Order: sequence, then C-alpha cells, then structure tokens
Amino acid sequence: MENTPDILEEKIQEIERIGALMNAPSWLIEELKHFKRVYELGFRAPVGGELKHFTTYVVLHKNPFSSGDFPFKGGTRFHPGVTLPLLKMLAIEMTEKSALAGLPLGGAKAGMAIDPSVYEENVLRTIVDKRTEELLKAKIIDPYYYSPGPDVGTNAKTMYWMYNKIAESNLMLTHGVNAAACVSGKPIEHGGIPGREYSTAYGLLLQLRKFIELSGIKLSAKPTMAIQGFGNVGGNVALFAPKSQFGFKVVAVSDKDGGLYNPRGLDTGKLKAWHESKKTLKGFPGTENITNEELLALKVDILVPAALENQIHKDNAHRVLAKIVYEGGNQTVHADAYPILDSRKVSVIPGIAANVGGVIVSFLEWRINLSDRTHEVDREEQEKWVLKELEKIMHKIIVKIVAKSEERKISFVDSAHVLAMEAVWKRFKEKHSY
Ligand code: NAD
Repeated sequence: MENTPDILEEKIQEIERIGALMNAPSWLIEELKHFKRVYELGFRAPVGGELKHFTTYVVLHKNPFSSGDFPFKGGTRFHPGVTLPLLKMLAIEMTEKSALAGLPLGGAKAGMAIDPSVYEENVLRTIVDKRTEELLKAKIIDPYYYSPGPDVGTNAKTMYWMYNKIAESNLMLTHGVNAAACVSGKPIEHGGIPGREYSTAYGLLLQLRKFIELSGIKLSAKPTMAIQGFGNVGGNVALFAPKSQFGFKVVAVSDKDGGLYNPRGLDTGKLKAWHESKKTLKGFPGTENITNEELLALKVDILVPAALENQIHKDNAHRVLAKIVYEGGNQTVHADAYPILDSRKVSVIPGIAANVGGVIVSFLEWRINLSDRTHEVDREEQEKWVLKELEKIMHKIIVKIVAKSEERKISFVDSAHVLAMEAVWKRFKEKHSY
C-alpha cells in the first residue's frame, strides 16, 4: 500500500476536515484544493540504442507567502510509483511545510515514473539532461519562478547535472543571476551549501529531541529507534541518531529489500559505509534479517518511517509498539491509521513538521546562490550557521505544535495541519483582503 489512486482525494479530505476544525472559510479550502500551474512534458532520450519516450510532471501549488504568486520550491522524484495525483498531494504538503517554517516559497513537486537504479550512470545523465532541456524550453526553471531540489530517487549528483545543463544553456539567465540558484541540494563544490545533504535527517533529530523534552513522554534512558528507508533521510537519521548530541540507540533499519535488527544497537557509521560501497544492507555482520513489516512492529521507543507513503495503515497500525512515530517521509502514515494509533497512545509527528529541514536548508542555499558565492574557507563557519538556523526553525515549529495541541486538545498531527492552514489563511487574507 504505497501510492493509492485516492492519494490526492485523501489529502483533500484532510484539508476539509482540518478546515472544519478551525471554521475556515470555504474560499480558503478552495485555494488549497486548487493548483497554480501543472505541467506535463514529454521528451525523448536514447536508451540502449533506441529513442525512448518519457513523461515528466511539475506541479506548482500555491504561494501565499510572498508578494505575487511566485517563487515555488520542491523536490524532484524519480520512482516507478510517480503519478500526477501523488505529486499534487506532495506539492500541497510543500506549501504546508513553507507555512510552518515561515519560508516565502510556494509548494512544488516534480517527478517522473522511472526507476533510476536500472540505468547506467551515463544513460541516466542523458535522461536528466533531456528532461532539463525540456524544463528550460517550457521556461519553467528560474530561481524567481520554480527551483527544484532532490527527493526520492534523485540526489546531489542529479541536482548537479541539472544545474550544469542550466548553466551551459543560453535559454536561461534572463535575470543575470547565478544559475546555481535554479537548483538546490547541489554538491558543496558546485554551489551547494554545507549541511544540505543531511539537513532533513539532522533537522528531524533536532526537533525530535525537543519534542521528547516538551511532551514529557517517558522513554528508555537511551531511547531505541527503528528506521524504515535507508536513503538520504533514513540513512542520515541512522548515521546521526547515535551521536552524543542525540543519544538514540538505532536497533533496526531497512530499505526496499528488507531490514536488519540488532537489539544491542547497530554501528550505523560502519553500516552506512557498507551500504555506500555494496548498495545493499544485506549481509552486514552481527545482525538478524527482518522484513519491513516486522520493523514497523518492533518494540522500540521511536519509529522513523523514512521511505514512501502509506506504510502504516489500518491493517498494521495495531501492531505498532513504538511510543513515538516521527515521519521522516511524507504521508507515511495513512489517515485511517490515526484513530488506531491515537487509541493506543502512539504520538505521531507528521512529515510536514518532521522532515521540513530539507527545504529550510534548500532555502538557505537558494538565498546564498542568489546573492554571492562563498569562499572555500567560509565553509566550516557556514555549516555552523546552517545548523543553527535549522535548529531554531525546527524547534520553533515543534514548540508551536505542542502548544496548539494542548490548547485545542487535538493530536499533534491535527495541530501541525491547523497551524499550517492558519498561516496560509492569514497570508491570503493580507494579500487579497478576503
Ligand atoms: P531516497 O531515494 O534517498 O531513499 C528512499 C529509501 O526508501 C531507499 O533506501 C529505498 O530502498 C527505501 N524504500 C523504498 N521503498 C521502500 C519500501 N517499500 N519499504 C522500505 N523501504 C523502501 O529518498 P529520500 O530522499 O530519503 O526520501 C525518503 C522520504 O523522505 C520521501 O517520502 C521523501 O519525499 C521524503 N523527504 C525527502 C527529503 C530530502 O531532502 N531528500 C526532504 C523531505 C522529505
């Protein structure tokens, strides 16, 4: 159960339910249900000696936060499960993230239904180049209009390829800006910002620590953690969670091929290096193999689902034994699981709050690219600054979520959505005097 055909419909039902909870006017619900622009682009790229057809989408939801309707920001997903309804749902969630983090960016999401792992690197690069050319021809990419970052199936290398294509293109650069500002999540040596690579995971951990302190939920002295997904988000949560500033014990991790478990704790530094060199978790010494379903049902303090949508649903929610579910991914908990988790006193922090660190640091990267290039000697200082900004914003978000939840006697999930919708409401009202 990942990307159901109803995934957008379910998001709209959530908007309507939250709207009713806060007596939101119907115009606000309509604003959130509709999209500013949606693009479907076709292109061809050579694969295995033949020209293959590809279709890619870019969804721009709404930007109530800056004057005018732009710019938009959001990740690019390359995964066989990509559909337009999925990207629309994720674009709405990006608007909610901007609302919670106070960023002047509208929510966007883009993607393509391909499995990048089946292509040789040079073939994938050609596909990315052809796709970028198409975005340029359609005049979609522009730091003041739409600038993408990474998501599932894309990474710093993909972002660099895009940046490079934009930079060498004379279709672009109408404003005389640094072309690097068209794409975030780039490698540091190519206009990226220190900390972006691990920002989603690090931000999650900073916020989780604060949440534990604020909520007073009783956990083991060294809280245990299970993580589903071992990509940019899950792999970096695993890497940093045991560090002294966080002090969690990671006992289980998984990827699409299954998981590993060791109740005494995993050496996640070694595991990450193993995964990077072997491209699999399998065979890591001193561990027991488990399935993804078994991982979700482990008796741990904290469960971090950091893979795809709808992993926890009505048929497995009753098996979740964690006290806290902290969503590293987006919509990893299906709406029909919430009543079950609530009745079992499992606290859930939704992705719009928990994984917003990525877009926060993408925003900092965009700002720096628009203004200036930093000198190499500045990197250490810049990383400290990035992490400080990240910490401030991640903490602020969770403080507000916990306070709103106490004030309104609503779940943390509802509290996060109410706060996001309130911010959108306020900004649209100011803009359009509704
Ligand atoms: P990624 O492509 O780097 O990694 C995805 C991981 O999930 C891989 O380890 C893959 O094997 C695993 N996976 C896929 N299907 C699975 C399944 N059915 N069961 C278990 N594991 C499975 O992607 P990512 O960037 O880490 O993104 C993960 C989630 O976090 C997504 O929901 C994404 O939208 C969200 N997110 C990512 C960022 C970012 O900065 N990359 C920011 C915010 C939110």
